[in-house]
Amino acid sequence: MPQVIGDTLQKSGFLRELKSAISGSAVKTDREAMSSYLVDWRGRHEGTALCVVEPSTVDEVAVVVRTALSHGVKVVPQGGNTGLVGGGVPLAGDAVGQQIVLSLRRLNRIRSINVLDNVIVADAGVVLQNAQTAARDVGRLLPVSLAAEGSAQIGGIVSTNAGGTGVLRYGTTRELVLGLEVVLADGSIWNGLQPLRKNNSGYDLKQLFIGSEGTLGIVTAAALKLFPLPQSRVTAFVGLPSPDAAVNLLRDLQSEIGDCVTAFELMQRECLELVLGALDGARDPLQHSHPWYALVEASTALRSDTLADTIEKNLAIAFEAGIVADAVLAHSEQQRATLWRLREEISEAERRHGTSAKHDISVPVSRIAEFLHHAPAAVKNSVPDAIPFAFGHVGDGNIHFNVFASAEDTKTINLVIYDLVTALGGSISAEHGIGLSKVDLLKRYKDTRSMLLMQSVRKALDPDAILNPGKVFDLAKTTDLGL
Ligand SMILES: Cc1cc2nc3c(=O)[nH]c(=O)nc-3n(C[C@H](O)[C@H](O)[C@H](O)COP(=O)(O)OP(=O)(O)OC[C@H]3O[C@@H](n4cnc5c(N)ncnc54)[C@H](O)[C@@H]3O)c2cc1C
Repeated sequence: MPQVIGDTLQKSGFLRELKSAISGSAVKTDREAMSSYLVDWRGRHEGTALCVVEPSTVDEVAVVVRTALSHGVKVVPQGGNTGLVGGGVPLAGDAVGQQIVLSLRRLNRIRSINVLDNVIVADAGVVLQNAQTAARDVGRLLPVSLAAEGSAQIGGIVSTNAGGTGVLRYGTTRELVLGLEVVLADGSIWNGLQPLRKNNSGYDLKQLFIGSEGTLGIVTAAALKLFPLPQSRVTAFVGLPSPDAAVNLLRDLQSEIGDCVTAFELMQRECLELVLGALDGARDPLQHSHPWYALVEASTALRSDTLADTIEKNLAIAFEAGIVADAVLAHSEQQRATLWRLREEISEAERRHGTSAKHDISVPVSRIAEFLHHAPAAVKNSVPDAIPFAFGHVGDGNIHFNVFASAEDTKTINLVIYDLVTALGGSISAEHGIGLSKVDLLKRYKDTRSMLLMQSVRKALDPDAILNPGKVFDLAKTTDLGL
């Protein structure tokens, strides 16, 4: 039988079996209905798929995986599709054989919230913001917070080990996950949802799936830690002369109020200008312009009248020391939201402005100033008309160092930045992961032993290589690791 006819028959057999195994309406094959699932948030990666399938129960997810496995079809898990490295969309063409997108969107039930345990158990497809609201309704805080929280899903934040603005105080998603339920690559269901804070009974298997970007299993539910809601909160927008000043201010505030410093977001003047240009009605919170800004938030679960006074006093001391150039405090929830929008809208304003090379890097906090001092000059030295700018979660050493430049110059710029990051003992991906965008870079910068271990884990959990092909590293090409 000619190959094309054989492929077509195989495809129609697979789709027929899938549609009879789960509700037919959960299987989309129409090109238009599939289109938004096939392209990533930044519009950088677009792939092809036999279908998009949207199961509504864990058992249906398992059936989809088993059916795909028996037909040799690859499975690309997708949550809110807000990932920034192309991890949640299929590859282009038939490079790896036939693929489907498995959207977790309809698995969207909050299974339980227990205030005594301080735990929320949510299906993978629950939108992060809905989980935060459900927690708030019972007086608790789910502290993962990021600009895409209106679309990103619980399964997505777990699978990317998302960070965001709460990491300084509460840690990344990894530190919040108490348990997981996962459909494995053979279609069996692993129930590791026990929401225990202490459990030393063997390997901590959930850790494998957190941050594995859909390459080791399909997360179908997560048990996440909750915290008491902050009762007092102070938000300040601070003008600064340099990144060095920002790091010093963070140090001084932490010395004074410890982990009450819950967010410390740095942004360069250029970022503020981008947002002011893109947001209707937005205005500069400070009278004069400054080269750098920090959005600082302090909070505590205590009802405290003194937190604002403490912050004001410390900002005044920092002003006297030349660390702070100017500052304003939010006096209402609305003013707080306005200040946060200036930070949260940077990615969207950047996207509207044009193509940029993004570098989501981390270095030790003590080396941030050094990085931000050398990186722009190094980029300009290689590509003189490039426009670098930076913002990020300075308390975690995580800087988004982005560069407006032509697509042809991106490769050169990437190497300049990542060489510098590596020399400073940092990571080429602090938050967004590897996905498809950074596969070659991971191979270049990650040590061989780690690559070998990751390869062994992936082969053990997905021996038929059906999960998210080509993402993080390409199993089919691991021989060129030189091992
Ligand atoms: C404006 C904006 C701001 C952002 N800010 C931040 C930030 O501050 N910090 C941060 O860390 N990230 C940030 N991101 C990136 C992104 O929002 C996060 O990575 C988020 O966790 C992705 O969730 P998602 O549901 O959209 O996942 P998707 O984009 O759908 O998928 C991401 C990856 O996870 C896999 N995946 C998704 N769901 C599952 C599942 N159930 N089981 C197995 N694998 C799965 C996919 O295959 C893919 O590899 C931002 C993105 C945008 C657009």
